This record gives sequence, C-alpha cells and structure tokens, in this order.
Amino acid sequence: MGDGGPRSVGWIGEAGSNCGMLISPKLKVFFWQIFNRILPTTEALREKDVQVHPRCPVCWAESETMEHLFLEYPVARALWDFAGLEYLGQGLPRHTFPLFLKRLLLIIHQSPLFMVVAAVLWRIWRSRNWVVFEGKQFGFPALMRQYH
Ligand SMILES: [Zn+2]
Repeated sequence: MGDGGPRSVGWIGEAGSNCGMLISPKLKVFFWQIFNRILPTTEALREKDVQVHPRCPVCWAESETMEHLFLEYPVARALWDFAGLEYLGQGLPRHTFPLFLKRLLLIIHQSPLFMVVAAVLWRIWRSRNWVVFEGKQFGFPALMRQYH
C-alpha cells in the first residue's frame, strides 16, 4: 500500500460504505498516513530529521510511535476497552500498528465495528494534536466528552 497517495486506501471508503459510513477525505488521508507510517508522530518526525523532543508529548513516558499512541498509552487502552474492542485485538500483532490495524479491519470491515474503530483512532489522534498544538489536556474524560 506504499504508493498511489490517499486514493490507494479506496478500500477504506468501501469498508465504510459497507456499514453505512461515509469516510471523509480527511479520514482517508489519516488511514493512508498510518499505513505508510508517515503519520507525524514525534518518532516519524525525527526519522525525517525534524527537531522535536523524542518523548511522547502526552505522557512523556517514551518515544511517541504509533504503537505507543494507539495501543499502549493508558488512555488509548481505556478507550479501546470502553468501546468494547479490546477483545478484537487479542492475538493480533501489536508491535507494528499498521499491520495490527490492517488485520483488525480485515476482520471487521463489513461490520458497524468499523465505524467504532475509525472513531476511536481519530479521537485519539485529534486529542493528541490538541495537546501538542493547543496545550489541552489529554485524558479519558476529555475523550468521552467528544464521544457524545
Ligand atoms: Zn505517551
């Protein structure tokens, strides 16, 4: 899935329409960035020689990879759990988030769960960006407010 730009994730749009969800161009770009490992986490920026602090801007625990942000960060884990999706990820490879996500979407691409997963990822990423660019607090309560 390395070329073709965001259009190469056209199957994401199909998966969305299978369960009645219109995937916005913004969300398609987001998925495309994930699958091509170019979502601008601090780790990805550093690989491109951008001068940013190596630690996760949210919890400062370790470097901010997609694996950390979407799978390991406690708030992300809580959100997966809250959405009732933790069980789905069991047995999937967690060391490479794009692979994890691809395998997860293959399982659920014709189910409404697809919408939930897309929403969870998007909320995490948007909330992370609020912290980075607007100094907002990232936490479970804030994520839940967005849910409603
Ligand atoms: Zn973190």
